Amino acid sequence: MCGHCKGCTWSLITKILLIIGGLNWGLVGASIVLDSATSWNLVSMLLGSMPVVEGIVYLVVGLAAVMSIFGCKCKKCATCEVSTSAVGGEQKM
Ligand SMILES: [Zn+2]
Repeated sequence: MCGHCKGCTWSLITKILLIIGGLNWGLVGASIVLDSATSWNLVSMLLGSMPVVEGIVYLVVGLAAVMSIFGCKCKKCATCEVSTSAVGGEQKM
């Protein structure tokens, strides 16, 4: 997915999940660097009482990362990539 087009809903969700995951890791890192007594893990703060739900959030963020590595193969994202990149990627229908 490129920065010019919006892409499909799925790629948007993937992007949001990666931002949430990235920000959360950033907060965890900041709390370690600043030697904070409490970890600023937002996901853990919000869902710490529900370990299974917390785990699912991490899992979904991880899946979103995997999705972003392979890229979305839907029509909307495919046409966008073809029109913007001159490198000529594979054009599967
Ligand atoms: Zn897509």
